[in-house]
Amino acid sequence: MVRAGLQEGILGRAVGNGLIDLQVHDLRDFTTDRHKVVDDTPFGGGPGMVLKAEPMFRAVEHVRDTRGTPDAVLLPSPQGRRFTQAVAGEYSRRAHLVLLCGRYEGVDERVSTALVTEEVSIGDFVLSGGELPALVIVDAVARLVPGVVGDAESVVRDSFTRGLLDHPHYTRPASLRGLDVPAVLLSGHHGEIDRWRRQQALRRTYERRPDLLADEALTDEERQWLAA
Ligand code: SAM
Repeated sequence: MVRAGLQEGILGRAVGNGLIDLQVHDLRDFTTDRHKVVDDTPFGGGPGMVLKAEPMFRAVEHVRDTRGTPDAVLLPSPQGRRFTQAVAGEYSRRAHLVLLCGRYEGVDERVSTALVTEEVSIGDFVLSGGELPALVIVDAVARLVPGVVGDAESVVRDSFTRGLLDHPHYTRPASLRGLDVPAVLLSGHHGEIDRWRRQQALRRTYERRPDLLADEALTDEERQWLAA
């Protein structure tokens, strides 16, 4: 799942261009028993299985020995710090990250105690494994690495990056099924277009995520316009 996901789109191109380097390791390669067992039943009883700690420790030691000490070892977990665009920005400034993928009931707690720098949650819901969260984190972080997204300006304009949600986007044709593109976008007047986009971003943020506006520096005119 992870290998396939990393080969696609912007991530795949970024790897091809040498802008980022992604390695996937199979925990089973770090077991010592004949059956390559990575899970076991929980101490204390109860349902499900727990991922064993030792293969995780050995996997990270292998990474350390072959590629140097990572800047952070992240464990995707519903109990972790909420992953946001700001957190993605933090991670994009680290040179070397390791993400450990949990499964089943989770990972032996000693991994969190002694190996993990930070647990990261991609939202208040529970997935069956850490692979999709790892892909989510890698994608969000990689697109903030300079050069990964062709047009740097588009990353700066994305939702959350400047605090607001993004403005709406349209492309050709200018009219379809009785739906017209706002005239200002066809005007060629860049000052007016920028003003319209800022107003739309403000309006959307106000309607959909008013919590984000708390930190936004608004002009008096924008305040009046929003209140209208
Ligand atoms: N028993 C755990 C709990 O309730 O906190 C849930 C384990 S979950 C079924 C298995 C694995 O999926 C976790 O160890 C974690 O790696 C991953 N996972 C599930 N939901 C996640 C989320 N919202 N964010 C990040 N990782 C998640």
